[in-house]
Amino acid sequence: MAVSYTPMLEQYREVKSKHTNEILFFRLGDFYEMFFEDAEVASRELEITLTSRDGGHDIRVPMCGVPFHAADNYIAKLINKGYKVAICEQVEDPKQAKGIVRREVIKIITPGTILTESSLPDKANNYLALLYEEADELCLVAADISTGECIWAIFSGSSRINGVCDQLFRLLPAELVLAGKVEGFSVISSFLAQRIPACAITTLANPDLILASELLNKHFSRQELPSNLSAQAATSYLLYYLHYTLKSDLSHINKLTRINTQDYLILDASTLRNLEITRNMRDGGRKDTLLSVLDFTKTAMGGRLLKKWLEFPLLNPINIVRRQDAIAELLDRRMVREELKELLDNVYDFERILTRIEVGSANARDLTALKTSLTVMPDIKNKLQDCHSDILSGIARKISTHVDVVNMIETAIVDNPPFSVRDGGLIRPGYDLELDELRSIARDSKQWIQELELREREKTGIKSLKVGYNKVFGYYLEVTHANTGAVPPNYVRKQTLVNAERYITPELKDFETKVLGAQEKIVNIEYQLFTAIREYIKERIREIQQTARQVAQLDVIVSLTEAAARYNYVRPILNNNRELIIKDGRHPVVERLLTGEMFVPNDTELNHRDSEIIIITGPNMAGKSTYMRQVALLTIMAQIGSFVPAREASICPIDRIFTRVGASDDLATGQSTFMVEMTETAQIIKFATANSLIILDEIGRGTSTFDGMSIARAVVEYIRDKVRAKTLFATHYHELTELAESSKVIKNYSVAVKERGNDIVFLRRIIPGGADKSYGIHVAQLAGLPKRIIERAQQILQELEQEKGNYNVVTGHKTESAKTTAAATVSLFSLSVVDELLGIDVMTLTPLEALNTLYKLQNQA
Ligand code: ADP
Repeated sequence: MAVSYTPMLEQYREVKSKHTNEILFFRLGDFYEMFFEDAEVASRELEITLTSRDGGHDIRVPMCGVPFHAADNYIAKLINKGYKVAICEQVEDPKQAKGIVRREVIKIITPGTILTESSLPDKANNYLALLYEEADELCLVAADISTGECIWAIFSGSSRINGVCDQLFRLLPAELVLAGKVEGFSVISSFLAQRIPACAITTLANPDLILASELLNKHFSRQELPSNLSAQAATSYLLYYLHYTLKSDLSHINKLTRINTQDYLILDASTLRNLEITRNMRDGGRKDTLLSVLDFTKTAMGGRLLKKWLEFPLLNPINIVRRQDAIAELLDRRMVREELKELLDNVYDFERILTRIEVGSANARDLTALKTSLTVMPDIKNKLQDCHSDILSGIARKISTHVDVVNMIETAIVDNPPFSVRDGGLIRPGYDLELDELRSIARDSKQWIQELELREREKTGIKSLKVGYNKVFGYYLEVTHANTGAVPPNYVRKQTLVNAERYITPELKDFETKVLGAQEKIVNIEYQLFTAIREYIKERIREIQQTARQVAQLDVIVSLTEAAARYNYVRPILNNNRELIIKDGRHPVVERLLTGEMFVPNDTELNHRDSEIIIITGPNMAGKSTYMRQVALLTIMAQIGSFVPAREASICPIDRIFTRVGASDDLATGQSTFMVEMTETAQIIKFATANSLIILDEIGRGTSTFDGMSIARAVVEYIRDKVRAKTLFATHYHELTELAESSKVIKNYSVAVKERGNDIVFLRRIIPGGADKSYGIHVAQLAGLPKRIIERAQQILQELEQEKGNYNVVTGHKTESAKTTAAATVSLFSLSVVDELLGIDVMTLTPLEALNTLYKLQNQA
């Protein structure tokens, strides 16, 4: 027989049965209680005491609870740990309830829908993404509920899964909702597990299609709807999910923006990571990233936008030049810039305040912060008044001053309002007549009580008589036991204490009704007035959002100007001759990190005539990867419209940057370094175009020298003949420098080093011509390896060099000496491998064939 619990627990179980995936916060008085398994989980995760409650029929039910006024922090904690929380409130007044108070789930909080300030990253978005597939088209919609932004993108063709992963890596969603079946989702989910482990995955089970499409049509007008049908469906599911969780109409999500990958320089997930654009490789933080160098933004809104600019650099030169013009103008007008910086300092994250207004959680402090922010708008407009550049004059035009909202808050809300909106003290005197009257009654009451006390003391002759107040009995007259004999007959005894008696009189009761009524009314009226003001602002959210976007843009422009001014950046020229020319370029991040040492600037020239591929040789630690990353970073900076660290630069917009650099950190994922390296190389070969920039750092390193060299060479040849992308290739294989002899588009460079006896000095200069030595042993010596090891290594190196001289890797033929010298140190195995390798025609080998051959060779071992 099923156990029957107390009526309250039965109600709980009924609600919980519909919310099995969430932890249910069940409102009981001033607490949210959790029961059964939820209580066990929550008490463990929140480190709160697990107690129990009588469940009826002598059953004890596990229980734990949190005070309702402190619930936000507990909820945030659970969300951060990957749980979802359903909030169940009392939906009728307990005083009026017949039997048990009705309770309903009023919202569900998930990682993608949380709005608690403390759990949202300041200068980054908190996206809720949704993936939907229809007719071979994958649609990704992502909304940041905290700011109201909503974007969508379509992916099709064979690269669609990759495209989605790259996009997700840029957005870094807190939650991904899967609407229906998505083919190849296993790849996406393992990508998420590996790269965005904090992203929660939710499956949208049986959405109500009719409701979803109703929500879509209610939310967006025809013109605002995405033209693409699968995007429409995806957006409707997203709205449905929000409706299901937040149960609010979210009209602040009112603009859908398409991310069209053709409009942007594509930075795939590994490139974004490798180049440390917005997150570093060490811990995923901001420190030492390009973003950290350029971020002088004053507002969280600007901070978020700058991050977006960096993740989506532009392709269209016209748009790039518009941003450059704005920066150039502010660079010239230092005073204006300084004044703007000061004004922006007063601007709060009002984009997120607007969201709280929308969902009804904004308090009076939010409104004063909004007022403070909007108050500077006239000054900002004013400062930009005589700016000529397109963007700045546009901002001046599009920022509104929202005088009505500012005045409304100014006249209605006190200067330093309390945190709570339910306890009064928010509304300024003079704003509402009735409120003022009630307040004067409440204020006068103190005086009245004092007078009454004096009067009664005189009347009764009891000097120690006091008037007091407590919540249970209300106002009372207190008389010590010693004096009770003098108490007049109209005093009614209410309570006996150890040494005193408490009484009431009809006069005191009358007064109490009036005063308490006034206080209750004050709190109610204040709350009503406050919500009315909030509603008033809610009507204007769209316009204020417009201003927020303009402010964010201004903040980013000011920030980039600041970086340009401080660090001596120059305005790059945009060319359309497919050239990339940098004179005295510097690595924006490394140059900031050097202490004592000066950064050595270097030139770069990449073009399709005589310098399409640059092969860079030089010892470890010489500066090869710094140099190559510098070229990629300057390109990205140029394409976000920023100025760049160089003496001069001329850049033709690049459509995509590929990077293949050391993969040691992938070891943790269980794939061999070499396998990762080859998979990434295969991607590059597949997707690069003649307008792409490829950075290859030491490919082929994860395998034996000859394999590695063969693959590296085959890859370079393929890029040269088929892809024609601008390529920088750092390698240890000095033999590859011979490629330049047979091809006019390949150039050799090396990093200069100076030998001083057994020592070497890195000069950090990139000079024409290949290096002939790798100086690995020198570097080992610099690193402090014992002398004995260094000497032994030198000896082994000599032996090996002799042996290697027996093969010409570039021609693939045995040299005469190889045929005659029996290489004693070469094992039988490596000889057979070498033979097999020499039999391969590397010129016609595809990367896949190379990979298969390598596996075959490995199996022979
Ligand atoms: P490689 O790739 O050749 O092994 P890196 O590019 O990693 O070498 O450079 C090693 C270190 O040398 C960097 O961390 C940086 O501190 C320093 N370095 C590199 N390039 C320069 C430069 N142009 N000027 C000054 N220091 C540099």
